[in-house]
Amino acid sequence: MQGATVLRVNLSTGQIRKEAVPEQMIKTFIGGRGVGSKLLMDNMDPKIDAFDPRNPLIFATGPVTGTYAPTGGRYMVITKSPLTGAIACSNSGGYWGPALRYAGYEYLMVEGKAKEPSYIYIHDDKVEIRSAKHLWGKIVDDTENMIREETHPEVRVALIGQGGENLARTACVMNDKGRAAGRSGVGAVMGSKNLKAVAVRGTKGFKIANPDAFTAAVLKGRDKLKAGPTTSGLTMLGTAGTVSYMNMVGMLPTNNFQAGVFAGAAAVDGTVVKKDFMTRNRGCHSCMIHCGRVTKVTGHGQFDGRGEGPEYETIYGVGTICGVDNLAAVIKANYLCNEYGLDTLEAGIAIGTAIELAEKGYIPESDIGFKLKFGDADAMVKLLEAQAFRKGPIGHWLAEGGFRLAEHYGHPELFMGSKKQGFAAYDPRGSIGMGLAYATSNRGACHLRGYTISLEHFGNPIKLDPFTPKDKPYWLTILQNTTSFVDASGICLFSTFDMNPGEDVTAMVSESLGYNVGGPEDMLKIGERIWTLERMFNNAAGLTRADDSLPPRITSEPLTEGASKGHVVDLEPMLNEYYQLRGWDMQGRPTSDKLRELGLA
Ligand code: SF4
Repeated sequence: MQGATVLRVNLSTGQIRKEAVPEQMIKTFIGGRGVGSKLLMDNMDPKIDAFDPRNPLIFATGPVTGTYAPTGGRYMVITKSPLTGAIACSNSGGYWGPALRYAGYEYLMVEGKAKEPSYIYIHDDKVEIRSAKHLWGKIVDDTENMIREETHPEVRVALIGQGGENLARTACVMNDKGRAAGRSGVGAVMGSKNLKAVAVRGTKGFKIANPDAFTAAVLKGRDKLKAGPTTSGLTMLGTAGTVSYMNMVGMLPTNNFQAGVFAGAAAVDGTVVKKDFMTRNRGCHSCMIHCGRVTKVTGHGQFDGRGEGPEYETIYGVGTICGVDNLAAVIKANYLCNEYGLDTLEAGIAIGTAIELAEKGYIPESDIGFKLKFGDADAMVKLLEAQAFRKGPIGHWLAEGGFRLAEHYGHPELFMGSKKQGFAAYDPRGSIGMGLAYATSNRGACHLRGYTISLEHFGNPIKLDPFTPKDKPYWLTILQNTTSFVDASGICLFSTFDMNPGEDVTAMVSESLGYNVGGPEDMLKIGERIWTLERMFNNAAGLTRADDSLPPRITSEPLTEGASKGHVVDLEPMLNEYYQLRGWDMQGRPTSDKLRELGLA
């Protein structure tokens, strides 16, 4: 069986060492999100603060990361989140993850805190902690260019911008100019360690256990992607192609979820991105989908620029939730988030929350400096900069994230999220299963942990009524277990609309590792183990059933127009059924029987 190595770098002591991952840990948790979560659990007390130097920052790849498996280029950043207080696992593509494996490491665990701004340079066996004093305060692109000049032209860099430096809980880790491990504030943990970047040059490569069988599995998967309808849709319009559909079904979050229909939806749809701004597609390592959009804005004054994006979640985050229908401004905001290292979702959600608070008179105008209104594109862009640099009272509270901002101004109920992390771009009142998915997601509200929309709207793999709770808890457990396994593998979730994770991804993982992980049922069991491990972390960190919640707007204020008009999410009965199906008690704690069954006792 193929082994795996953890590179451990302690920034407090300067100690650098390599450790083999126990074979049993790989068999039990596979890799990526699975092994990464286990390493986190084994190396910290979940109760400590996320900014405590004892909170490790773990970069994790999966057994297919860096191979020629389709979309096999993912890495994950796993740590305790400063946004949610729960476990964080933020997933990114690009080329950084493969580079880490080519250097000889499946995992990098950064511990402690450097005395001064630093970066880690890994060139195969040579690992150094270097000063980053000259890089601190620089935007992401400039930093990457400077590191490349002083190390190697082909180095791959994962890094933070000013958002992470200033401990914005909305900060992400960027890599490969435009790719982001976006959610849960992982960039702020990196900033708290005085770590500006991890630069990797890997030339050693690694072996696949059964190359012929692996190639056969890869070719089968590629054929499915070639023939698949979702793949071609993502290539053509990216995720931004979803805007008009979500508006049509009345669940495009508008003005901080006060509506599910946005009058300006047609102006910010993926078709307009393609027609007016896109210059070419961009893909990650070994990806044939290329959902990324390289764009250029010209003739729009202060919004002019060039870079990558937007995807659908960004159009929502800095667009519809803020009532902004100016696509040039949305794209500019995307560029700024990439430069400052801010999560386009969380940063935009914080602004959308602030706008509603301001319009209702809960934030004094003196804290902002101007009158804040939904639809003001200039203000939205201005507030991103304030957030990254914590400028003024509003900048400080935006950097704390939407929940803390709303709580500070006396109205936490106006924050639209769960576990202090903002919702993704789907109003759950138009897709009831998403309400349960947001509430139970271990890393806080998220669409990538259980995309029930696939069943409730697209009929994949079966069609469910979007407005009833029937069968949602059951299907959500299947989706959550599946995505846990896929994230452990190193494959991009987007490929699993057209590939079958239980057949194709399991085959690639088995042949890569040289250990038979089994078929669909085994995949679900491994995924359940990872999901339950994350839940154990959260319970140990102090989270309870009360954190599996939704704001009152979602549970008791029906939408007043559009195709989802009249609906709310009745969460509690679904939550009871979900806990039962999971083998947890009614407080959301896994029972000892369940832990024994999963080998977690
Ligand atoms: S589908 Fe998109 S995000 Fe996923 S690997 Fe391909 S380019 Fe990257």
